[in-house]
Amino acid sequence: MSNELNGRLALVTGASRGIGRAIALALARTGADVAVNYHRNESAALDACAQIREMGRRALPVQGDVARASDVTGMVEQIHRELGPITILVNNAGIGIVRTIEEITEKEWDETLAVNLTAPFLVTQAVVPDMRAANWGRIISLSSIAAQLGGMVGPHYAASKGGLVGLMHYYAAHLAKEGITANAISPGLISTDMSAGLPQQSYHIPVGRFGTTEEIAEVAVMLACNGYITGQTINVNGGRYPG
Ligand code: NAP
Repeated sequence: MSNELNGRLALVTGASRGIGRAIALALARTGADVAVNYHRNESAALDACAQIREMGRRALPVQGDVARASDVTGMVEQIHRELGPITILVNNAGIGIVRTIEEITEKEWDETLAVNLTAPFLVTQAVVPDMRAANWGRIISLSSIAAQLGGMVGPHYAASKGGLVGLMHYYAAHLAKEGITANAISPGLISTDMSAGLPQQSYHIPVGRFGTTEEIAEVAVMLACNGYITGQTINVNGGRYPG
């Protein structure tokens, strides 16, 4: 087990299930303590925390809707009280309500933008002071191949994931001198609850299968450990979009 992130504290949003959970476990395996944010799935978050503690790291389950500014403030205060300053942030929580051009309503558009784009802005703003004080920080956001190809969830989802790339570019440019990097990971189709039920053979994936959550987590760990990659979008899509 590598200890490269020993002494670092990570906050992973939406870490109860899927990609976020795999990233939380992989960061812990690399030495980090982890705050495991969840929205509704408390038992899964508690289970992830138990696994992290078994590795000898500190773990804290933190309930909160990341799209609500008051929840974000409360979560970050709780983490400060119980674990300390946060220097690795993984903006992972996201929703993908499948809607066509005609079906999507303004309410669903707003809800998607709130969770997928406004929340990463809110959480990053709450955590950047810790990173600045440490002169070290890593901001990693989960975009999507939908930002590049449009995808099949809908226009609301593609727009939210494209916005995240711009947000990471801004942070990268403005925080680089303070030891803080900001990058996006752009997954193709990954086997999780979000992609459950989609037929794998329909998507012409050169590698021939959906990706695994661990294959995304490996990239998140790489970005957390590396201080010279910033302002990038790392494509992990089985060859569907060459980047
Ligand atoms: P998932 O299996 O549906 O899990 C979503 C996670 O986000 C859960 O932990 C959920 O918490 C949490 N969450 C949802 N809304 C939240 C909110 N308002 N506040 C806090 N937490 C919230 O999703 P996934 O497939 O792992 O996707 C993770 C990220 O990767 C998302 O941003 C997604 O858009 C992106 N992505 C996924 C794929 C894919 O093929 N799976 C491809 C490209 C990009 P609870 O369990 O507590 O409800």
